[in-house]
Amino acid sequence: MSVLTCAACGRRLSPPLCLLPELPARLGHDGRTNADGSRHAPSTVARGTYAMDLEPSGAPFVPHPDPEWRGEAVPGTIVLDPDGPGCLMSAGPRGTLVVLPADVKGLLVPNSAVQELGCCGVPGRKGPNELCPGCGAEVATLTAECTGPYETHFLPDAVRVVSA
Ligand SMILES: [Zn+2]
Repeated sequence: MSVLTCAACGRRLSPPLCLLPELPARLGHDGRTNADGSRHAPSTVARGTYAMDLEPSGAPFVPHPDPEWRGEAVPGTIVLDPDGPGCLMSAGPRGTLVVLPADVKGLLVPNSAVQELGCCGVPGRKGPNELCPGCGAEVATLTAECTGPYETHFLPDAVRVVSA
C-alpha cells in the first residue's frame, strides 16, 4: 500500500492505495446519477486503488498535426480546434497517477483560478483544478464530466509515492 504526498510540503494527499498493474479500460456511462439527478461519470479505478496513465493527460491541449484526426482530447471527449480545421489532443504529462475522486474528497482543495462549466461535472480541460491544502501547489486534475471518465489525475512531478 502507498500514499501520495505533496512533493513540495510533504502533506498526505490520499488514503492508503494499492497500485494496479495497469490503467483499467474506461467504460461508458453506467447509469449512476449525481445527487442533483445529473449523469455521474463512470469510474475508471475502484476505491482504494490507483494506476498510472501512460498516455498524455490534461492541459495543455494542442492541435493534432493531422487535420483529419478525430481522436479524444480527454477520454470520451473530442474537442474541435477553435482556431484550425482539426481536433485538439492532450500534450499534458505522461505518467499521471489516476485515483478515484471520492477517495481524495476532502484531502484536496479546488483551484479557484480554474473556472470551468460542464453539463454534469468538471471537464478538467483548463489545467490542474485541485490544490494541496498545505501549500497551495497544483497537484491534480479532476475530470467528472459525464461524457468522460470520473478520475483524479495526480501530476507525476507534484506528488511522491510513499509506502504506507
Ligand atoms: Zn503541499
